[in-house]
Amino acid sequence: MTGAVKVLFVTTEIAPFSKVGGLGDVAGSLPKALRQAGVDVRVVTPAWPGVLDKVAAAGLKTTILPQHVCAAYNWEIREAAVIRTEVDGVPIYFLRAEDYNGDMYPPQLNFWSASPFAVFCMQALELHRAIDWTPDIYHCHDWTSAFLPCALAWHRHYRQKGGRSVMTLHNVAYQGVFEPDPFMLASGLEPWCFSPSTMEFYGQVNLLKGGIVAATAVTTVSPTYASEIQTYESTRELSGVIYQQRHKLRGILNGIDTVYWNPERDPMIPERYSLKKMSGKDLCREELLRKSGFDVKTQDPIVVCVSRLVEQKGFHLVLEAMDVLPTLGAKFVFLGSGHDWLEDGLTQAAAAHPDCIKFFKGYDEPLSHLLYAGGNIFLMPSVFEPCGLSQMISMRYGTIPVVREVGGLRDTVTDADSPGGGDGFTFLTCDRDGMLWALSRAIERCRNGAAWQQIVSRAMQQDFTWNRSAGLYKALYQEMTA
Ligand code: ADP
Repeated sequence: MTGAVKVLFVTTEIAPFSKVGGLGDVAGSLPKALRQAGVDVRVVTPAWPGVLDKVAAAGLKTTILPQHVCAAYNWEIREAAVIRTEVDGVPIYFLRAEDYNGDMYPPQLNFWSASPFAVFCMQALELHRAIDWTPDIYHCHDWTSAFLPCALAWHRHYRQKGGRSVMTLHNVAYQGVFEPDPFMLASGLEPWCFSPSTMEFYGQVNLLKGGIVAATAVTTVSPTYASEIQTYESTRELSGVIYQQRHKLRGILNGIDTVYWNPERDPMIPERYSLKKMSGKDLCREELLRKSGFDVKTQDPIVVCVSRLVEQKGFHLVLEAMDVLPTLGAKFVFLGSGHDWLEDGLTQAAAAHPDCIKFFKGYDEPLSHLLYAGGNIFLMPSVFEPCGLSQMISMRYGTIPVVREVGGLRDTVTDADSPGGGDGFTFLTCDRDGMLWALSRAIERCRNGAAWQQIVSRAMQQDFTWNRSAGLYKALYQEMTA
């Protein structure tokens, strides 16, 4: 790829090896699209526990590079072995070191649990020595790699080198906030960068804030979220910082991996189908009913949810509506894991209404495919949603989303009752009645076959490929290196 702009993706998650949520999906699919668009993109990521086993299980060839990468941190040299593989033409470098033997996302952030993320960023800055390839741009994602732009701007050693970075905000709710002592000394950052105009935040270190201030460009994963995060209502105290930096902020909508998420080819569903031949979806539906312990002959629409169970996803609205859901003439199947109180609430609801509510607790990739394929309606009542991938995946499988009009949900789903029709059902007010209003409309419409097919057809024909967005990222990289 001679002459192409060289970009190193610095990410702590990558599908299918270490995915936790949408960031993993993006890191697994956007680089492929960028390479097809002519960007020389490579990925560096930690080899968290079990990750290299998944690489081996996928049958990928790996090479251990002769040279380790070393970073100076806390008056020590922190070394990592570099293991290279390639997925669909994208080189991926896994860093294996003691630093990455713990929890991928520590429950408590402090100097010790935050250190691996700073070390990872510095090792990413040193990677060029081991691979004989120097990026023009470091593309970082969320607080977990936000230390890298900070190091390029304020680290005693790296700030001499010059270097450009893009900071992509996948979810501003997670910021990497912890006590400054002894981090500021151990990290090698200039002491003066612990100030309100840089990375200090109400007496704490805020890595995401530092990354936003220090990066050359900032992007977020949908245009609506780009404007929402500049408001106090959405982002509280950090909104002022984002507002100040808005000159370098743009919203670029995420895509999905349409090769992986494809009902015509998906090996994880019992029967494949397409818009032209939908009979396979009925078989998937039957299998989902069977697996959920419901009557397989029922004509009731199936409402599905695949989600992390956290406040962001609006599951408290679902729990508040539990007395009404069994009266709506639908079956409900939930798959998710997260906060105990949400897991417990769904477990109790399923126990109280075993004939119409099923809760699968946990993270289960194959089962998620069955829910996307076998469901009729996909419920996503998010309080906020930077982009959201699940609604796009569900539309691709002809499962119609019911979503709140917020962030990327607003940019991807159009209400079926709007002039000209649409591909989903939406509501604005973040309360149980708003959600029930949209959900009841969807259930009622689903019972009316012809009208429903039109909505399904529009949803399945939406273009969720990365092509357009990859072009927008490429244009950004070109502007930055011009
Ligand atoms: P977020 O990144 O906020 O979790 P997104 O909608 O952007 O939400 O992406 C969620 C991704 O994680 C989707 O691919 C979804 O299918 C997957 N996912 C979430 N929870 C589960 C689960 N319990 N089991 C399997 N996949 C899940």
